[in-house]
Amino acid sequence: MLPVIALVGRPNVGKSTLFNYLTRSREALVADYPGLTRDRQYGRIKRGERDCLLVDTGGITDEQEGIDVFAKKQVEIALQEADVVFFMVDARDGLNATDEAIANMLRKLGKPVVLVVNKVDGIDSNTVTNDFYSLALGEPIGIAATHGRNVHDLLDRIDELLPVVEDEFEEQDPGIAIAIVGRPNVGKSTLVNRLLGEERVVVFDEAGTTRDSIYIPFERNGQKFTLIDTAGMRRRSRVSLTVEKFSIIKSLQAIEKAHVVIYLIDAREGITDQDAHILGLVLEAGRALIIGLNKWDGLNAEHRDFVKKQIEMKLSFLEFAEKHPISALHGSGVGKLFDVVHTLYDSAMTDMSTPLLTRILTDALAAHQPPLVGGRRIKLKYAHQGGRNPPVVVLHGTQTDSLPAAYKRYLMNYFRDQLKLTGTPIRLVFKSPE
Ligand code: GDP
Ligand code: GDP
Repeated sequence: MLPVIALVGRPNVGKSTLFNYLTRSREALVADYPGLTRDRQYGRIKRGERDCLLVDTGGITDEQEGIDVFAKKQVEIALQEADVVFFMVDARDGLNATDEAIANMLRKLGKPVVLVVNKVDGIDSNTVTNDFYSLALGEPIGIAATHGRNVHDLLDRIDELLPVVEDEFEEQDPGIAIAIVGRPNVGKSTLVNRLLGEERVVVFDEAGTTRDSIYIPFERNGQKFTLIDTAGMRRRSRVSLTVEKFSIIKSLQAIEKAHVVIYLIDAREGITDQDAHILGLVLEAGRALIIGLNKWDGLNAEHRDFVKKQIEMKLSFLEFAEKHPISALHGSGVGKLFDVVHTLYDSAMTDMSTPLLTRILTDALAAHQPPLVGGRRIKLKYAHQGGRNPPVVVLHGTQTDSLPAAYKRYLMNYFRDQLKLTGTPIRLVFKSPE
């Protein structure tokens, strides 16, 4: 599972500053997608080969009024689902009553806590951090988030507290893993039942009320699949639980495990801001994506046009994604999903040889030269594959740090076209000698 680090603390202690500092390198990877609104709450930290999910819980205060119920619920869920909590306090303010209240709450939670004393820049960090021993949360780490000072100590703590566990899922060979994701009531359970066929419905009802995603292996025409059902095995009668049980973190963990994500939208409601946010996170995860416009049945032509326009406007950063109107309830469009999933899987997992990639690079350069920087032309020499799911192309050259976003985007689209990739994002990584 994608390990989760929850960042908690009073307002203004520096949580978002640290969040931005830690997630910056990831941001660079997706910066070239126009129209993408960055989610300032869920971000990724790369530690060696693996990613961790960092969740900024926002300011915890006594007055919870004005905070919408959904956001508040997600904070609770983040704490419940966290593997490690970073509890941040402000060195300049010293210890205060709200810190103590949060510390109490965290002790009850019983998760590993790292006490982070921020803003130690320009002050004697040892003296200040000592004050915070009384919170009884272990040794405080003094940092300055604005400068990144001592942040590496924090990262080392992540490695200590989040031991690498073997991934059973990968070992069992899931075949093609499909995550069914979307907000509550968009039709995820209905689609899962529809994809599996009616005989499987029974299995669902036995399930009870676990909050985790459910992994359902099955075979179709000799191909192995695993459905990752984020709606969980929910009982039909307990509809009131739906909203409570929706967890962005669980959705992200399911997305991480998937080869292909089917993100469902309730076409009657159109695309909400929450949809756009979660879809931004799907892009960050680099997964092949089908946007299922569900409940297409019974919509009039005008409304259908409206939804299509909305997609163009709000989801311009997902140009690569496949969009499919479906009705999970009636089954229209659903049968075709398997073929689409297959195509996307092949794209996400494609093998690309070094000569092929280098030839595409040469053609791209010939068609449109990189710009001059300081009178010198940026050089790109060769390319090779750096990963799958999503496909990663590593490009070697000189001065690649100075490549403008527009040129990177040009290359990205050129590679995608030439490689005939469908439904998956592609990542370009630029390397040049120091
Ligand atoms: P949040 O409400 O906890 O997310 O806090 P912010 O990240 O918005 O930071 C609140 C204020 O503290 C901002 O004005 C930051 O510039 C400042 N700040 C954050 N980290 C540091 C730091 O390491 N040193 C100093 N001196 N100021 C900081
Ligand atoms: P989930 O919370 O995302 O798992 O959503 P459900 O599968 O429980 O569906 C929520 C509601 O939407 C139920 O009443 C479904 O019958 C209804 N629903 C699901 N798919 C469709 C569809 O394609 N068309 C229509 N009209 N209703 C649907």
